This record gives sequence, C-alpha cells and structure tokens, in this order.
Amino acid sequence: MEVDVLIVGAGPAGSTTAKYCAGKGLDVLLIDRRTEIGYPVQCGEFLPAIKEMYSMFPETIDLEELLTVDSSLVMGRSEFIELVSPNGRGYRVPFEGITLDRRAFDKHLAKLAVEAGARLETATSMNSITNGVASTTLGEIKAKVIVGADGPNSRTARDVGLQRPDARYPAIACQAEGSFEPVVKMYFGSLAPGGYGWVIPKHNGANIGVGFRPDLLMGKPTELFDRFAKKIGVPSYTGLTMGFVPQSGPVDRTVRGNAMLVGDSAGHVMASNGGGIPIAMIAGRIAGKTIKEHLEKGIPLDAYDRRWREVMGKPLANSLWTRKLGDLFFPSDLRTEFAMRVLGRRGLARAIRCTKVFYVI
Ligand SMILES: Cc1cc2nc3c(=O)[nH]c(=O)nc-3n(C[C@H](O)[C@H](O)[C@H](O)COP(=O)(O)OP(=O)(O)OC[C@H]3O[C@@H](n4cnc5c(N)ncnc54)[C@H](O)[C@@H]3O)c2cc1C
Repeated sequence: MEVDVLIVGAGPAGSTTAKYCAGKGLDVLLIDRRTEIGYPVQCGEFLPAIKEMYSMFPETIDLEELLTVDSSLVMGRSEFIELVSPNGRGYRVPFEGITLDRRAFDKHLAKLAVEAGARLETATSMNSITNGVASTTLGEIKAKVIVGADGPNSRTARDVGLQRPDARYPAIACQAEGSFEPVVKMYFGSLAPGGYGWVIPKHNGANIGVGFRPDLLMGKPTELFDRFAKKIGVPSYTGLTMGFVPQSGPVDRTVRGNAMLVGDSAGHVMASNGGGIPIAMIAGRIAGKTIKEHLEKGIPLDAYDRRWREVMGKPLANSLWTRKLGDLFFPSDLRTEFAMRVLGRRGLARAIRCTKVFYVI
C-alpha cells in the first residue's frame, strides 16, 4: 500500500499530527496497535489549564484551539497543587488544571483526525521499518512521510536511526473511589524514590499513582504502589496500569530523512513533573502543519525540528535541569526534606512551572 503520510500511534501526538496534515487530498493513515484507542489508561489524566500553559510556554500561540476540552471529557477541576515532603509538610501552590477522562479524550482526538480526513486503523501494529517501508499487520506500507508517535519505547525511532529518550521512568496509575479534596497532591521521598506519588482528584474519586527512578526501587513496583496507597489512606483501587515516562528531555534530532518523531517518542515531556499530553499536542500541531507544507510546497521536513524547539525548547530544558537538580536530593528523605524547605513554596512553584528554581545558572 502507498500513502502520503503514515502515522504510527494514535495517542495525543499521533492524532493531533494527523488532524493537522489531513485533508486537501493528502492520504494520511493513522495506525495504532490498540484495539480500543485510549484504553488501557496509563496516565494521571491531569491537564494544566490553558493559562498555565501560556505562562510555562510563553512562545506558544492559539492554545485555545488546541487545548480547549469539552466538559463531557472533564472529570475534575483543581486550583492548587500541593507538594508534600517526606515528613508530610505540604507546600500548596496555585496551579489550575483539569482531570481528563483520558480514555474518552484520546478517542475524541482520534475522531477529530478522522473528521479532518485521516484514515484510522486500530489493532494494527507497525513491526519494523526498512528502507522507508513500514512492515505492519496490514501489510507493507510505503509513505512519503513516516511519523513515529508511538510513545516512549518508539520502534519508529529505533528503525529509522533516531535516538529514543534514554531515561524512561516507570509509573503506575489506577483509579480510586471516594471523596478527595479538589487539590492535586504530589508526594516526594522514599514513597516514590526519585519520582513522586500523586493524587489527582475526580468527581467521584481520584487517579492515584507513583512514578519512580528504576535504579532506586527496592522490591516490586506493585509493593511500592501498595505502600503509597496505604500511606495516603486509599483502601482499594481498580485498573492498575504501568507505563513509562520519558525523563531525559527531548532527543537531539527529531527528523531523519522522511521520518519524524512527535510526543513521548521525541522526549516531549516536562521532565520535572512528567506532564506530556499538552506537549505532545503542541508538537503534533507543528508536525502536522510542517508535513502539509512539505508535501504541498516542498519546504524541508526538518523545519519541524527547528519550529518545535523555538516554541518549547527552553521550558523543556529548564524542566530537565530541575529534574537533574532533584536527582541530587531524591535518594535521601532527609535531603529531600531539606531541599523542599530551602526552596519553599515559591521555589517549588517555579520547579513545577518549568522555570529554573534558582536564578544563578
Ligand atoms: C503512569 C503515567 C502517568 C502520566 N500522567 C500524566 C498526566 O497526568 N498528565 C500528562 O500531561 N501526562 C502524563 N503522562 C504522560 C503522558 O501520558 C504522555 O506524555 C502522552 O500520552 C504522550 O502522548 P503520545 O501520543 O506521544 O504517546 P502515547 O499516548 O503513549 O501514544 C502512543 C500510541 O502508540 C501506540 N503504539 C506504540 N507502538 C506501536 C506500534 N509499534 N504500532 C502501532 N501502534 C503503536 C500505542 O498503542 C499508543 O496508543 C503520564 C504517563 C504515564 C506512563
């Protein structure tokens, strides 16, 4: 089969890319190995409010068009994030966001791509790419442009000779029932070594989870999760899933030949807080528009790499810097407690906002 654009992965990155390059006679094929888009949910489901995104990524434009979420997909709203130290001291910072119904949200994004003219094939895996031809469970597909939107363990990146994010932290998430304060909570210390545990409130419960640095884990991930759930007083939960969060910042190159990487596959995640949904969508819009210009007007495909870096490069670099700073303290509860006290509410607010926590460097 021959298409203009093959997009591997129908998560936020792939579906958004597809939406922005489909139409006007271009044959855009979006494939995903999942039978049901968006399921299972491997996510905390938190999306920062648009105004918070503008403040963290001031070079972005038209985020309303991209990130306005219909209320049917919103499961909760919060106005604060509380960062909790190993000793239980809470630092509450104003930060608005919503809790998504991620299962429905991903389906919605895929539907927008289809409405724009893309073809969607679920239960379809890309197995390998050789000399620009993708071998998939639908057969061989030759494409003018191949997009790897296939997540942190991107097979596309591997096969087209692009680097994958080298640090990928495991994270476990699940759904808990009950009544939770409408405040997002992030717990630091040995409960979540090298990462953090979270409680992200929903109308009738919460998404709870733990992300951790694999080399600091003692025991099994599920034991770590059970300890965390017990500590925060969650007696039962359902839908435990595990995924990986890129934590090493964007990869050095996101375009090679006719292939490009978008979203987690490119390391498009805020390393200091693990948030990747809006970043994947911002990059996806840039990717989709660049592909269109490439196919219609012949502009070079690697304009994509330059364009997303202009918009998101600096905040993502700051976020990585903060994560690396955290690495100095996280292995010890005592040091984590100390660092959080020194930073205080303001410093911690800067850390989660992708701003350097100190001005000195
Ligand atoms: C536990 C956890 C909690 C998180 N919490 C948050 C949060 O609260 N807020 C936030 O903003 N971010 C969060 N993230 C990060 C966020 O989920 C990702 O950054 C985001 O999903 C990236 O979108 P994507 O489209 O790049 O990748 P994905 O959403 O991972 O989509 C990739 C798609 O590619 C498909 N695929 C993979 N390989 C193939 C193949 N070979 N063939 C066909 N299809 C393939 C997969 O099935 C998948 O559907 C979390 C991540 C984890 C793991």
